[in-house]
Amino acid sequence: MIPSRRAALMVGRVTRRDPMMTAETTGRAACLIGWPAAHSRSPLIHHYWLRLHGITGGYSIEAIPPEGFAEFVMHLSTHGFAGANVTIPHKERALQLTEPDERAKAVGAANTLYYDGAILRSTNTDVEGFISNLDVAAPGWDRTGDALVLGAGGASRAVVFGLVERGIRRIHLANRTMERARVLADRFGARVIPAAWNTLSDLLPRTGLLVNTTSLGMNGQPPLDIDLALLPRDAVVADLVYVPLETPLLSAARARGLRTADGLGMLLHQAVRGFELWFGLRPAVTQELRALVEADLL
Ligand code: NAP
Repeated sequence: MIPSRRAALMVGRVTRRDPMMTAETTGRAACLIGWPAAHSRSPLIHHYWLRLHGITGGYSIEAIPPEGFAEFVMHLSTHGFAGANVTIPHKERALQLTEPDERAKAVGAANTLYYDGAILRSTNTDVEGFISNLDVAAPGWDRTGDALVLGAGGASRAVVFGLVERGIRRIHLANRTMERARVLADRFGARVIPAAWNTLSDLLPRTGLLVNTTSLGMNGQPPLDIDLALLPRDAVVADLVYVPLETPLLSAARARGLRTADGLGMLLHQAVRGFELWFGLRPAVTQELRALVEADLL
């Protein structure tokens, strides 16, 4: 990802704060902790909502190396933060240093930290981001039949857990490295069925929801090469990749008249819960916000 124009740029634990977040104006503040952390649209998203709702507060980027992460998180409020997003490489460590909810535990990674009194809790909002985006983009997606999830990396864990939580009966999980699909399937129980990559053409005709969680289709990566003609006419296709906004998979699906849910939608929806936890108001994913982030991506 490319840094937001307003995002902080930093080296080590040096933060350049957004002009909105000065000592005089800071009400509540949150941050994104990563290493490196310069590539994020999160400041753009949260500043949009802060401005829209007239909330005095801020959202900065904090570049924290692995050896400094525990200290930073243990003293998050002393550093002036009501909570934080956590990204690579800290998501698993964040789980150990906080009180995680069921979603974070099931996914095995926390991406959002917040205080509940003196207790620092954590959750994983990729689950909600993925499901909410589908609910908005393709209502009824959960009544289309089996799901087929491609990929068994970190993002796949959130997607599979979200599908299990929603009650999808059969979730086929295919990955280039079959063993990773098996490990993930074992983690989530009998409804998740590992599949070999070369069985996709057998699975597609009974797939109601196809989800790409691999990095295929991303700028600089090969496209995801599968034959969408094999999908039923009412199937829904979701892609987590959002650079480019319209991946070859999504444009092929749209060309066939299939309903789609894109990666940018998931990114925007996953930010909602963090904002609500830190600033006390549940924001909406608006067309205006989407256009703002799209312009930044382009
Ligand atoms: P990851 O943990 O590195 O997993 C990458 C996955 O892609 C693995 O399943 C890997 O298969 C597969 N893969 C990579 N190259 C491949 C190839 N040439 N052929 C077949 N499979 C290949 O990455 P991640 O964190 O899960 O992220 C995956 C994608 O989701 C990224 O594009 C990321 O930007 C996107 N994402 C989007 C959102 C959002 O909010 N929209 C959130 C999270 C992630 P192997 O196991 O065989 O290596």
